[in-house]
Amino acid sequence: MNVLVINAGSSSLKYQLMNPETGDVSAKGLCERIYIDGRLTHKVGDKKVVKDIPMPTHSEAIQAVLEILVDPVDGVIKSVDEIDAVGHRVLHGGMKFSDSCIIDDACIEAIEACIPLGPLHNPANLMGIRACQAVMPNTPQVAVFDTAFHMTMPPKAYRYAIPTEYYKNDDIRRYGFHGTSHKYIARRAAELMGTKNFKMVNCHLGNGSSLSAVKDGKCQDTSMGLSPLAGVPMGTRSGDIDACVVQFICNKYGMSVDDCLTMLNKKSGVLALSGVSSDFRDLCAGAEAGNEDCKLALDKFYYEVAKYVGAYTAALNGIDMLTFTAGVGENDADARAGICSYLGFMGVKIDPEKNKIRGQEMKISTEDSAVQVWVIPTNEELMIAQDTAELVNAAKK
Ligand code: AMP
Repeated sequence: MNVLVINAGSSSLKYQLMNPETGDVSAKGLCERIYIDGRLTHKVGDKKVVKDIPMPTHSEAIQAVLEILVDPVDGVIKSVDEIDAVGHRVLHGGMKFSDSCIIDDACIEAIEACIPLGPLHNPANLMGIRACQAVMPNTPQVAVFDTAFHMTMPPKAYRYAIPTEYYKNDDIRRYGFHGTSHKYIARRAAELMGTKNFKMVNCHLGNGSSLSAVKDGKCQDTSMGLSPLAGVPMGTRSGDIDACVVQFICNKYGMSVDDCLTMLNKKSGVLALSGVSSDFRDLCAGAEAGNEDCKLALDKFYYEVAKYVGAYTAALNGIDMLTFTAGVGENDADARAGICSYLGFMGVKIDPEKNKIRGQEMKISTEDSAVQVWVIPTNEELMIAQDTAELVNAAKK
């Protein structure tokens, strides 16, 4: 089976053509500068092709992707009919979606209804969906939501302690994000443990970071909230912050709430603390060279992540497994060691040699650690392809 996985942003569109059973990726790439001019970067194995192609809308971008996929020289399939299904990443499923779903008119309407909750991403995701429907009307399409995995949270985790009317009338609550990644890791962790019945905390640490508390395969709590701004400090996001900071800054500097939130989303986090970069590799290099601000940014990040692990361990009344994934979680041994240095109280012990692993699955805890600690590379595209295949195959029966 061939599933085309699409992740449409406001001016970009990432794609992967993959086999959901084996995880093999036959081609992948990126359309950039949609609405501006248009550039396609297409990769098959080690071979990379870059083409400037006019992309006045997402439709032309999808068209360009399909054309290169069937191209006699750079393509990997003979005809578009060889694409069995398309899986779309959709940011916000609100309270309407606790699972992935086959795209039909009702599904599109529900995604539209979630636009107030995901104002930047949902419209772009919809443009990707509509563009695919236009150029491949007979191919089944599936929407996979970043929020869906977290819909098993109990009210005590997802409700904010603010007047109920905002929840009842406006759906204001914790949703959480990176759900496709958290779901993929929870499933892989269950395979590694040989059972679904255990408790874990997953640390998805990348440019954006979130943690989830998972019991018996189901999410119980997660660190992001109504939006991806909440939780631990990130590359450029502040993470949790007292709302009065917004009031103070807006009043003192005559800033609008929107501008203040742009500052909290794009100019804060470890970028702001270090004054150097949002990229953890730059921060590590800076700290090694003696830059105190880089050291503070890293210390703050390790400290806040460890606090969430501690909180979720209490929420779950103990954990059996702690997992690290995404760019920092998979590659940054110093970050894993720094975070775990706070967790000795709960019996976490990591092996410094094993912790040197980068980008590969590995148990990095010692044999006598009370909690198994693992590095598990995430694969959101594979999770999207698998969900897509599952739904499309079930619909055929
Ligand atoms: P992601 O958002 O998951 O792609 O993760 C991006 C983040 O991972 C960036 O901050 C990178 O600096 C970080 N990262 C990737 N490789 C490494 C590495 N070898 N050491 C430290 N950080 C890394």
